[in-house]
Amino acid sequence: MTHDHGTEPTNEECVDFLERIMRLIDNELEEGDCAVVRAHIDTCSPCLERYDLQRTVKAIVARSCSETAPVELRERVRVRIQQIQVEITEE
Ligand SMILES: [Zn+2]
Repeated sequence: MTHDHGTEPTNEECVDFLERIMRLIDNELEEGDCAVVRAHIDTCSPCLERYDLQRTVKAIVARSCSETAPVELRERVRVRIQQIQVEITEE
């Protein structure tokens, strides 16, 4: 019996927490569960990394799925359309 990893959660625990981490990010966890998951993330760096990664992915997806495209992008598209129109009329 080794005590090297005495305070570290086992993989099984992390697998169990992963699902709850996803739900925490989706704001689908109950108040009590949130505290439990956050406490685990605080003490488990692999889960913290997963949490950060998932949050980043969510943020990117949310941004790219938002109804209005960023002004910058719309401006680029507008300019491109004008260029194409110019090309067409010059031919
Ligand atoms: Zn963990």
